[in-house]
Amino acid sequence: MNTFLKSEIKFLKGVGQVRADILNKELGIFTFEDILGYYPFRYVDRSKYTKVSEINTESQHIQLKGRIVHFQEIPLKRGSRLVATFYDGSGELELVWFKGVKWIKANIKINDEIVIFGKPTLFKGRFNMSHPEMETFAARKNAASLEAVYSTTEQMRNRRFESKAMRQIIGNLIHHEKFDVPEIFDSKFVEEHQLISRKKAFQLIHQPSTDKDIQLAQHRIKFEELFFLQFPFLKQKLNRIEAKEGIEFKTKSPLFEDFAQNHLPFELTNAQQRVLSEIKTDLVSGKQMNRLLQGDVGSGKTIVAFLSVLMAVDNGYQASIMAPTEILATQHFIGLKELAHEIGIHIALLTGSTTAKDRKEIHRLLRLGEIHLLIGTHALIEEIVQFSNLGLVIIDEQHRFGVAQRAKLQEKGHQPPHVLVMTATPIPRTLAMSVYGDLDYSVIDELPAGRKPIKTVHRFGFARPKVWEFIKSELAKGRQAYIVYPLIEESDKLHYKDLYNGYDELLQFFPRPEYQVDMLHGKMKPADKEAVMQRFKKGICHIIVSTTVIEVGINVPNASIMVIESSEKFGLSQLHQLRGRVGRGAEQSFCILMSSKALSENARTRLKAMVSTNSGFELSEIDMQLRGFGDIAGTRQSGLDQLQLASLNADGTIAQSARNAIVKLLDEDPDLLNHHALRNYISTKQGFKEWSTVA
Ligand code: ADP
Ligand code: MG
Repeated sequence: MNTFLKSEIKFLKGVGQVRADILNKELGIFTFEDILGYYPFRYVDRSKYTKVSEINTESQHIQLKGRIVHFQEIPLKRGSRLVATFYDGSGELELVWFKGVKWIKANIKINDEIVIFGKPTLFKGRFNMSHPEMETFAARKNAASLEAVYSTTEQMRNRRFESKAMRQIIGNLIHHEKFDVPEIFDSKFVEEHQLISRKKAFQLIHQPSTDKDIQLAQHRIKFEELFFLQFPFLKQKLNRIEAKEGIEFKTKSPLFEDFAQNHLPFELTNAQQRVLSEIKTDLVSGKQMNRLLQGDVGSGKTIVAFLSVLMAVDNGYQASIMAPTEILATQHFIGLKELAHEIGIHIALLTGSTTAKDRKEIHRLLRLGEIHLLIGTHALIEEIVQFSNLGLVIIDEQHRFGVAQRAKLQEKGHQPPHVLVMTATPIPRTLAMSVYGDLDYSVIDELPAGRKPIKTVHRFGFARPKVWEFIKSELAKGRQAYIVYPLIEESDKLHYKDLYNGYDELLQFFPRPEYQVDMLHGKMKPADKEAVMQRFKKGICHIIVSTTVIEVGINVPNASIMVIESSEKFGLSQLHQLRGRVGRGAEQSFCILMSSKALSENARTRLKAMVSTNSGFELSEIDMQLRGFGDIAGTRQSGLDQLQLASLNADGTIAQSARNAIVKLLDEDPDLLNHHALRNYISTKQGFKEWSTVA
């Protein structure tokens, strides 16, 4: 960037010290460049006027032309309220102001021809508009027909620093004689990808004349955003492939073959087989595997992991499975122990609650190479040095395992272990490629045969007795149930009240000894948690009342009912994870979402979505429409929150073409030695320090 764009914002015409302070504080805008990158959130066609008679409940921001025929000022305790009657020949609309009353009275006269702009709201059966933008028709005459609308904060509006002022200031910048935005791509590249110039894009995004202008400008800016989002990942991937040799496994794998033919408790789905062959291809390639495996809850990732472990053992290597929580690690251990014994491989569990004595013994056996498969929590990453010859690391539930931790694995030794990361939080492919862009990608997009889709319903609190009766009838058939209470923070004492109250209430409905109801939460000692899980697994306990500690990974096929209390407090992906604890057996399973009657629009949409589909992929699309990407776990450190215009949901095609462009570019010129402008831009771009470590 040139020095002009680096100038302090207060020096821009129309800003000054007071507004500069507001821009700093409210929008984080400090320089000319910053404000240039503050894009409009939409555009209005100022050549169109709506009639008062056309206003309806669907009306968004609209523009009307007419006159004020009546003003009434109503004194309030502090200041006053100004109410005006606006008339445009088709009908009357009430306008209301609580602020800036003086200015309006001084500048707008009865019967002036004026243009107003704002969003009508329905109040007591009549439409009104509060705080519309307003100007005389005469003043509007020379204005552009397409106008950018900028979002402003309440603090800004209170000081009459609104969209219009932003538009003027940015206009002053764009029309400044020194205004220039240097190109960062070379001309061949720009042409090849049908981009408009960088300078043009910034001009048109703020001051378009036509819809086509908006589209061209947005395309260029989105392309750039998606280019720089994916660049570091792809660069890192390239470096990894070039720098690190991987452990080369042999194609023949006797243990694997034996297990697959003689010990598999079921037939693999096509998707499982395909993924296994993708993994195998990596393992025998001589390059280090770095693969992301996505599969909806219950799609059968564990067995894929276990079969991959067998390939490592077949080649004389050790393997490790890491889970985010102790309870999950323990579950994996219990689930795989028998399979491991059957085939004669030595498996061990190492968690925070392993005693010092056992830990020592495990370390000893690990160093001797006598433990084939070690299961544990993420803390294992620290223990990895203890292995004799670690060949494969499997990380379950990727979204809690950060990029930094992944990088740590890369540093282990000249021949780093193969890495398979598994996640049950389905995210659309385009997102996955960007967030985990340094990984290859596999997906299990099919559930094992014979699963009955889970029936999901939504019930309000007053229906609870009926719900309990229903659970009784299912328990009578020999099934088991989970009842989950939201605990946002496991450390939050107050919230435990709901859990304890719920537990007490349940004990009355399901009295001992006929019914066995256990409580499970994160603050319990690991041994106690484990005891509860065992009682449940063995069918001794009928109902587990718990916090979200059971969110991930628990596998009890006989459990067929999941009741989620205060379900409106959960996010979609969490609801889906919880629901995934049932529907694992052959019996019909149920998920009952309890909520209060007062639901926000957003909560209503979430619950509706849960009732309407069992597909994690569909839900994650809906989730992203509701929340955007920023909030989705694991996306923050990936730079996704830097996306301003682009959306991976809607702009998958642009994301893909940016990706292709990067691959081609890095292939021809890995260190960008012939692309000076781009290289400079990348290395100086704020928050983009990766280049220095990557290149
Ligand atoms: P997740 O992908 O959520 O980790 P799991 O690996 O826990 O799923 O598998 C869920 C359940 O499905 C387990 O009980 C597992 O034994 C079973 N399962 C896995 N693959 C198959 C298959 N191909 N056929 C039948 N059942 C399967
Ligand atoms: Mg799992």
